[in-house]
Amino acid sequence: MAEKYNLIVIGAGPAGYVAAAENASKGKKTALIENRELGGTCLNRGCIPTKTILHSAELFSEIKVCEHLGIHVEQVSCSMEGIQVRKEEVTQQLRSGIEMMMKKNKVDVYYGTGTILDGHTVKVSGGEEAVLDTENILIATGSVPSMPPIPGMDLPGVVNSDALLASKEIYPRLTIIGGGVIGMEFASIYSALGAQVTVVEFLDRILANMDKEISQNLKMILKKRGVEIHTGARVEEIREGADGTLVCCYREKEELKEAVSEGVLVAVGRRANTEGLLGEGFELAMDRGKIIVDEHYETSVPGVYAVGDVTGGIQLAHTASAEAINAVAYMAGEEMPVCMDYVPGCVYTNPEIGSVGITQEEAKAQGISVITKKYPMSANGKSLLSGQERGFIKVVADSETHRILGAQMMCARATDMISEFGTAIVNGLTLEQMGSVIRPHPTFAEGITEAVRG
Ligand code: FAD
Ligand code: NAD
Repeated sequence: MAEKYNLIVIGAGPAGYVAAAENASKGKKTALIENRELGGTCLNRGCIPTKTILHSAELFSEIKVCEHLGIHVEQVSCSMEGIQVRKEEVTQQLRSGIEMMMKKNKVDVYYGTGTILDGHTVKVSGGEEAVLDTENILIATGSVPSMPPIPGMDLPGVVNSDALLASKEIYPRLTIIGGGVIGMEFASIYSALGAQVTVVEFLDRILANMDKEISQNLKMILKKRGVEIHTGARVEEIREGADGTLVCCYREKEELKEAVSEGVLVAVGRRANTEGLLGEGFELAMDRGKIIVDEHYETSVPGVYAVGDVTGGIQLAHTASAEAINAVAYMAGEEMPVCMDYVPGCVYTNPEIGSVGITQEEAKAQGISVITKKYPMSANGKSLLSGQERGFIKVVADSETHRILGAQMMCARATDMISEFGTAIVNGLTLEQMGSVIRPHPTFAEGITEAVRG
């Protein structure tokens, strides 16, 4: 019989491959089971593909209007086929990196579906075939797109993010159902590619869990770029229109309206993926399909843990990896090293959005007395010279102690700069301490100094 593993990880996304490498680096015998590609949703159908396509789309739209920078370009065009080639190059290179990381750490990788037979046995099937013994199991099987039960969901041209990211065509008109993170990133991509985009969002604002001012500003900016945004609107049906078009019928303020387009993207959230995971007779406590875990990521079965999207918490790649590191530390009897109290959230629109800690509205709702500082990036040199002067940095601090409690920014490089505030909040820094640092000139980060000192 094969040697017993210390840990079998099921799913090789940013939760699973990080957990496997981390556990193996402690000298423990580790297996990783994956039924698609290493890297999971994040690398193959999520973060990396969207941002690669977005990079091409933004460059394309910038080149078209670069005359005022003294650059003359005669003819510009782009093709999704070419962009897809670039996307494949990037994802392939990163996948090879994960493969190497697994080899270096001596993780046994099995390609197939992992099914838990009992708390110490996992079967691999549908690819490689094996039955493996283990002390612990970590479930990291991620999530898949939700498709709501709206009539017409199965029509050709009605796609989820997986399909749209693999598409080799650019729909001239795209209707997006859902004004959340995926919806807004695709609205940015497609409008930059020159498509006519319509967004239909059920709630009364887009990016509903972000700072209100950010939602309002983004809506305004996208509208100026020709994106139609309908909030407080419920999609009732999608049907076939003339000439191969799709008609998305939605009710907005009691009025029935239609959006006609060649493609419809459904981006209304993601559900936990537990397909093929639980063997006959093996059960775990679940809440509407999500695996329930305690504060140490342990499920209702001792020795079986779960992290990442499958637990249905915050569905972000960096959260998944952080939970993986903590869970592995806990299993090894160590202290969990990552503080999970402040998870930064980023949206890769143009301008970018970064948020961490609480917003002014949340502070008010929680009865916390705060001061809010705001700095407009139109006054920042780097923003102006690079033509990205739109946006602002907002900082929320305790009104008595001046300890920073939150920050929200909507500006160029917001997704990079937000980490300064994450570090500040986790370490209890005040406005004055954040302001005591020299930030180089000219940089976008100078806006942080101005915001905290202002
Ligand atoms: P996944 O990445 O979903 O990985 C799970 C893996 O397990 C998959 O490879 C799956 O095939 C495999 N698997 C499932 N069941 C089994 C089984 N029984 N046996 C073997 N293997 C199995 N997050 C960010 O932080 N930043 C972003 O910019 C961002 N952009 C995104 C854009 C899009 C379009 C989407 C869809 C998501 C995006 N996300 C982003 C979210 C991010 O991708 C997820 O939060 C992250 O991938 C979750 O990681 P995970 O390891 O939990 O699961
Ligand atoms: P989401 O929860 O962010 O947004 C879904 C939106 O769809 C919500 O605003 C919701 O009100 C709306 N909606 C739901 N049903 C609807 C209906 N029938 N009609 C109209 N609107 C409807 O989900 P998402 O955008 O699908 O993203 C899924 C997950 O992927 C998110 O949890 C997010 O964290 C992650 N993600 C992260 C990033 C990033 O970090 N930059 C990028 C993409 C995705």
